[in-house]
Amino acid sequence: MQEQKRATPPKGSILATESAPKTRVSGKNPVPASARIRALVIVKNGCWEWVGSKDRKGYGRMWVRGRGNTPAHRASYEIHKGPIPDGFCVLHACDNPQCVNPDHLSLGSLADNNADMRRKGRHAHAETSGHAKITAAIAAHIRAEYKPYINTYRALGQQYGIAMETVRDIIKGYTWNN
Ligand SMILES: [Zn+2]
Repeated sequence: MQEQKRATPPKGSILATESAPKTRVSGKNPVPASARIRALVIVKNGCWEWVGSKDRKGYGRMWVRGRGNTPAHRASYEIHKGPIPDGFCVLHACDNPQCVNPDHLSLGSLADNNADMRRKGRHAHAETSGHAKITAAIAAHIRAEYKPYINTYRALGQQYGIAMETVRDIIKGYTWNN
């Protein structure tokens, strides 16, 4: 991928991966991530359904420079709405995992995600096992997102605001193996 040197985007922002302002897509400038997202969705009932690669839970995946393989809904949220604070989840108002429409995405804490899952009837029995901060849904996300050497225990721990040892236990199936 061609990349131009640019003045400092906000540190840690996914916008740092956009090599040109959104309004300047020309032959000279590589396609911004926002345009790549729009090229990989079909609009169905208001949802932007991801037609690129997906994980086994149905969440879209996209390659983001400096991040590697990233959940597409999280990338879309950051590109259209702003950075995701540490430990926060991106929730789907439409309950459609493959949807990346920023209007359907909102930021939630782990507790919000927990409540959301409960409301949707996906509350897993394992959540009573003492790992208060982690829900079964988040454990599933972590398992789906883990990629050796690319999306590591440490990176996932930072993403979800938990210890890397906790991530390792989830990946190894010591915990949340329901
Ligand atoms: Zn949607």
